[in-house]
Amino acid sequence: MSDVDATAPSGLVAEAARLDAADELRAKRAAFALDDGVAYLDGNSLGALPRAVAPRLADVVAREWGELRIRSWEESGWWAAPERVGDRIGRLVGAAPGQVVVGDSTSVNVFKAVVAAVRLAGGGPRDEILVDAATFPTDGYVAASAARLTGCRIRAVPAGDIGAAAGPRTAAAVVNHVDYRTGRLHDLPGTTAAVHAAGAPVVWDLCHSAGALPVGLDEHGVDLAVGCTYKYLNGGPGSPAYLYIRRGLQPRFDSPLPGWNSHADPFGMSPAFTPADGPARGRTGTPEILSLLALDAALDVWDDVGLAAVRAKSLALTDFFLRCVAALVPEGRVESVTPADHPARGSQVSLRCPSDAEAVTAALVRRGVVGDFRRPDVLRFGFAPLYNTFADAERAARTLAEVL
Ligand SMILES: *Cc1c(COP(=O)(O)O)cnc(C)c1O
Repeated sequence: MSDVDATAPSGLVAEAARLDAADELRAKRAAFALDDGVAYLDGNSLGALPRAVAPRLADVVAREWGELRIRSWEESGWWAAPERVGDRIGRLVGAAPGQVVVGDSTSVNVFKAVVAAVRLAGGGPRDEILVDAATFPTDGYVAASAARLTGCRIRAVPAGDIGAAAGPRTAAAVVNHVDYRTGRLHDLPGTTAAVHAAGAPVVWDLCHSAGALPVGLDEHGVDLAVGCTYKYLNGGPGSPAYLYIRRGLQPRFDSPLPGWNSHADPFGMSPAFTPADGPARGRTGTPEILSLLALDAALDVWDDVGLAAVRAKSLALTDFFLRCVAALVPEGRVESVTPADHPARGSQVSLRCPSDAEAVTAALVRRGVVGDFRRPDVLRFGFAPLYNTFADAERAARTLAEVL
């Protein structure tokens, strides 16, 4: 062959190999328990296991719990772990230390953040909570309950229109940074500024952005944010979530779930509640130490990684996957619902597949390509920049073409 056709299957395989060889994050994959027989593209649902977790957790169980027992609250640093691990996550979402606390689930933190946001807005004519119309369900359910509790009503608005919709009646807005179904990245700086101009705070849900792209919470003046740690942060199933409370708001953050752990003097056991200073005000009860310290160990993989490199690789992976799909999958069988333009793309590609997307997902899994399916007809492929390869992308597209 004299002319190499870059769209021929062999051309894409060779290109994937070249891109992987040039990838500055390529050494990171070895830090994860993954086997080359599987293209794991579901890290936006459950991140892969970092190898550092099992030995750390074994030590936490055998020594910190088994031998030191209750002394570990002080001697092993258990008591301060929610804020210490919070600061580690803070670095990944652009928050200076002292503003992030880890604990509870995302759903519970959405509740704390939305009610606290409405309380910050001060009531009066502000009786409307704007909610991302395509939100992940839990945020919508929780916001609706928060609205009933605070005498507000819910107004569902497409995420891109929330800035324009905010006005004198807005008490708070709740927005998903990345749409879990389509992978669309919403305009955090612009929406935050517009809602602020209308005099209300914004709660951002970072579940699908933290660990996949730079967020810039401090830089963009975000008020409150929440996120889970078991997707791109690889904390493990059910690992505790986090809550960001901007420093300037902390004195006025009035949690709807004050517990003894959010008290200024927890061991004073006072009948009267005095909130702690700082992000500890966002705590509730006793921290989930085992899963919290598994998360702590999982975060080690980020220590020498910059988010700009993560973002660059994420976009390169999703670009390459989209090219492979276009080259290999017969015309008209799938259609990308993920934006082609970089500023509007998270770290996943969602393909609408009218012909039984659920069965297609199952067939892909049997062939070692693990993505997932969202009703009614969406195939989701999540790209985790620390461990996914360009070879994974090519394999997924080629296998999809075979299955279809
Ligand atoms: C994954 C996800 C959640 C999950 O909430 P949990 O309380 O951890 O179950 C919430 N919101 C969004 C946007 C998500 O993607």
